[in-house]
Amino acid sequence: MKQYFKVRLVIFLFILILPGLTSGQSSVAITIDDIPNTGKCQKDFFKSNLLNKLDSLNIPVTIFITEGLIYKGDSIVKNFELMKNWMNRSYTTIGYHSSKHSRYSEVGLDSFKIDVERGEHVVRQLAQTYGKTIDYFRLPFNDLGKDSLQHINIETYLSSKKYKIAPFTVESADWMFNYIYEYYLEKNDPVNAKEIADNYIVKTIEYFDFFDSLVLKIYGRPINQIYLCHDSRLNADYLPVLINELRKRKYKIISFDEALQDNVYKQKDNYYKKWGISWVYRWMKNQEEISFYNRQEPEDDLYPLYKQLVQEQNKTH
Ligand SMILES: [Zn+2]
Repeated sequence: MKQYFKVRLVIFLFILILPGLTSGQSSVAITIDDIPNTGKCQKDFFKSNLLNKLDSLNIPVTIFITEGLIYKGDSIVKNFELMKNWMNRSYTTIGYHSSKHSRYSEVGLDSFKIDVERGEHVVRQLAQTYGKTIDYFRLPFNDLGKDSLQHINIETYLSSKKYKIAPFTVESADWMFNYIYEYYLEKNDPVNAKEIADNYIVKTIEYFDFFDSLVLKIYGRPINQIYLCHDSRLNADYLPVLINELRKRKYKIISFDEALQDNVYKQKDNYYKKWGISWVYRWMKNQEEISFYNRQEPEDDLYPLYKQLVQEQNKTH
């Protein structure tokens, strides 16, 4: 009889442990670019609704500062305060994202250096007052250059300035969803706005599923994912919904530093084109492999509408 219970106990323990062995825990770090969105905040009386939401979400977040944004709009002083508010939060780690958000492959190294160096003093000094350091630089548009020479040059330059290049693995064109979302809200059309926002959540989860199954195929295990999104009205309203959906799917929200402990991030970036693709692709051996998997990505069905709205707005402005 005792033996019988022992066997049952072993089977029970095996069932408990098995999912952990086969699938592992899914983890993701949240990173937000183009902080602070001063244009949006000015409309909201210099408050950041996204920051307010994050205050109660209790998750670590890494923010990438585009310093030049503080010179946009009516009040540099208030914009500067806004940037400080993002940086002084205990749950934020800070990365730098340039001053003017120029596209490296187009402007070239010399101009890009000016863009980096224009704003970094302010950002580094401010970070220091909050006991934080800036170790990571995220390239605007994740553009690391149009060829291998530009690629090597930017890596060498940034490392000479003690920056590591900030990777990401999952993004879902949140900027595009946001554009359409704001368009409908400004047209007083909350029904269509909500439909777009719901679509954003569904599509983002599809991207997580896609990259999770892709890395499982490649590495035989889940990896620590890094999600890239932006400081926008859409995320102010819907990032908490997305976090909730991820948690329902048993994702653990971890810090950027913790995510980067995963050995996959030690791999070389072999991609020598200007497009801002996921690091999961950049670690692949060649362009054929990238194209093969890239074609299997979830459909980008809103892009035609986005393009049409941009054209419409360009006509009226
Ligand atoms: Zn950006």
